[in-house]
Amino acid sequence: MTSQTGGRRRTASVPDLVSGARAGDPRAVARLVSLVEDESPWLREAMAALAPHAGRAHVVGITGSPGVGKSTSTSALVGALRRAGKRVAVLAVDPSSPFSGGALLGDRVRMADHATDPGVFIRSMASRGHLGGLSWATPQAVRVLDAAGYDVVLVETVGVGQSEVEVAGLADTTLVLLAPGMGDGIQAAKAGILEIGDLYVVNKADRDGAHQVRRDLRTMLSLGDRREGDWKPPVLSTVARTGEGIDEVAEQVRAHLEWSTSTGSLAARRRRRARREVEAIAVASLRGRWAGLHGHASLDALAEEVADGRTDPYAAADRLLDAVP
Ligand code: GDP
Repeated sequence: MTSQTGGRRRTASVPDLVSGARAGDPRAVARLVSLVEDESPWLREAMAALAPHAGRAHVVGITGSPGVGKSTSTSALVGALRRAGKRVAVLAVDPSSPFSGGALLGDRVRMADHATDPGVFIRSMASRGHLGGLSWATPQAVRVLDAAGYDVVLVETVGVGQSEVEVAGLADTTLVLLAPGMGDGIQAAKAGILEIGDLYVVNKADRDGAHQVRRDLRTMLSLGDRREGDWKPPVLSTVARTGEGIDEVAEQVRAHLEWSTSTGSLAARRRRRARREVEAIAVASLRGRWAGLHGHASLDALAEEVADGRTDPYAAADRLLDAVP
């Protein structure tokens, strides 16, 4: 890896980057996240070096429809965590790419309040270009931030399509945001968010209808009692714009960590997460290998045979897998 520094080319080795990140150098952290984003060939070495240092951070996922106040809430939550003495990293993931070309998050991370705080690291990341999308890139970026020593890693993602389910898969604690006036009450049931939240936050409590959203949500949550163990996801209210209610959110985030640690739920969740991570890397690697195949076992050739009825998809899949080097 090279970078231009004062006109001279400087090479930073992976061990340099890892020790820099561990020492709290935000540039080293940023470059390690870039390795993930770029699907760099150096990533494998970086992950091996980072692995022994990972597993300490509390990974908190924040999701909700566009406009509910995720950015505002994240910023307020960072403030609350900083007051509690925590070092915080924020990863804003844009799951909409490649469809929007990464425009959805854009400059959404409006965190000017924290821009000069050395205890806060903020990064947005597009999952565009990754074979495994969000499921491939995000856990690896989280691992970088975790190993870099941040106490809390906040992963903010726009709730579109499957992304909120994916963010729940990689977080220790998932916070689902809703707000009045967005049809969220009804959408909640549809989008599957009733299954994924460890905490529900009805933001914009200063607006009409917040009470109703809260009531609908509580009713729906009580109908579908699907909880692991005895954790009942609290339904909280905030006005993120003024910070009202945010300390309670921080408190409940901490309480969920305590509960999940003591019951073993955290360890189980992290194993599931690691399993998916390994699977995503393996599948991406497999895809990469068969994309490199030529001749009769190439995916294109097999697809043609299946489409023409010369072979069936199972037999074609067997041949594809058999041919993978
Ligand atoms: P995101 O798209 O979910 O990240 O939402 P933003 O954080 O960008 O907020 C969307 C809009 O809602 C912005 O104009 C915010 O200023 C506003 N907003 C955020 N929180 C509150 C709140 O608690 N009350 C009110 N009235 N507006 C809010």
